[in-house]
Amino acid sequence: MIYDMAVVGAGIVGLAHALAAAQRGKRVVVIDRDTQANGASIRNFGFVTVTGQQAGSCWARAMRSREVWAEIAPKAGIEVLQRGLTVLAERDEAVAVLEAFLATGMGQGCRMLTRAEAAARLPITGAVQGALHSPHELRVESRDAIPRLAAWLQAAHGVTFLYGRRVTAVTLPRLDTSAGPVEAETAVICPGDDFTGLHADRIAAQGFTRCLLHMLRVMPARPTSLPTPVMSDLGLARYLGYAELPEAAALKTRLDAEKAEARAEGVHLIAVQSADGSLVVGDSHRYDLTPPPFADARVDDLVLGELDAVLSLPGARVTERWTGTYASAPDRLAWTDHVSDAEKLVIVTSGTGASTAFAIAEETLDSLYGRKAA
Ligand SMILES: Cc1cc2nc3c(=O)[nH]c(=O)nc-3n(C[C@H](O)[C@H](O)[C@H](O)COP(=O)(O)OP(=O)(O)OC[C@H]3O[C@@H](n4cnc5c(N)ncnc54)[C@H](O)[C@@H]3O)c2cc1C
Repeated sequence: MIYDMAVVGAGIVGLAHALAAAQRGKRVVVIDRDTQANGASIRNFGFVTVTGQQAGSCWARAMRSREVWAEIAPKAGIEVLQRGLTVLAERDEAVAVLEAFLATGMGQGCRMLTRAEAAARLPITGAVQGALHSPHELRVESRDAIPRLAAWLQAAHGVTFLYGRRVTAVTLPRLDTSAGPVEAETAVICPGDDFTGLHADRIAAQGFTRCLLHMLRVMPARPTSLPTPVMSDLGLARYLGYAELPEAAALKTRLDAEKAEARAEGVHLIAVQSADGSLVVGDSHRYDLTPPPFADARVDDLVLGELDAVLSLPGARVTERWTGTYASAPDRLAWTDHVSDAEKLVIVTSGTGASTAFAIAEETLDSLYGRKAA
């Protein structure tokens, strides 16, 4: 059988393309070298972030992708565990960044919370001065959501999944795999941060690297509710939607002086909550084409230190630790390479894939098949 479209990679970027193609009535096959998705897409926070994304196309893609997540989650049996976002501000300079953000077009729907309002919702420490609440975000448990999304694409949209097969060459309509050829009229390659497989030459020319992140699961000692994901001052210095505001310069200077080690390790705080009450907490950012396999406990301590600075969780203990990597580029957040009219290579080159993949996939499908009628 000849498929209309082959997708290489069953991470969120590949699955988003499979969905967009299936919604156009295409017969789709998804091929992944692993027996189940095992890359960045299952290691992340499952935090579909809008507020804080870089102004312009990234923010717009995040708004659209959030809409798609909200629409498909109930159909695919994916539980939305949290909605919205609270950015807790400790420093005057952080409050100034949040107020400046609120005045931008991206501040729509967001509002400032007083310390008392924040304390009524979250177990904040005395260091927190105030907060920004955003209504836009969704949080899913990626390690469950990604397999559920794949199973739903198969059951409801007839998408074929071929796991445990590496695609070694694409010469349409033929894709060579480690378990024999597959045929498709078009192909979208979504290899995540595998830079030395398909189109290694084209990828090498871009100068991409990898970003390594440390993640932890923390179980509070007593029942604790985080109605929204939480971020803090360090995130305002990294997330481009805030960090590119002129008001962020003073905050970065202060954080560089007060939190030099955390800044050097690219640490910022995201804390999200899972169904069992535990928190997924991260993260750090180390850039290296071949990141070391040795996870430095000092980096975990920096992340936990930032958690303790804003949330009061006495007796909480770490129950799980892991690392993940994603593709990173110095000059862009995502890259679509139009290899030919029928073949596209799509790599999200930043930590935004869960937040933007659905919109990116719709753009790719437009480029392959023309704009979809509204
Ligand atoms: C720790 C961590 C936290 C993050 N937090 C967030 C977050 O909160 N919000 C957010 O929006 N983003 C977040 N991100 C980023 C996001 O997870 C990534 O941008 C996204 O998952 C990338 O998806 P992907 O499908 O491109 O890559 P992957 O999930 O890595 O999938 C790529 C797939 O391609 C397959 N593959 C590659 N080459 C071949 C081949 N030749 N043949 C067959 N299969 C192949 C691989 O096996 C793999 O399954 C985070 C990332 C990490 C690591």
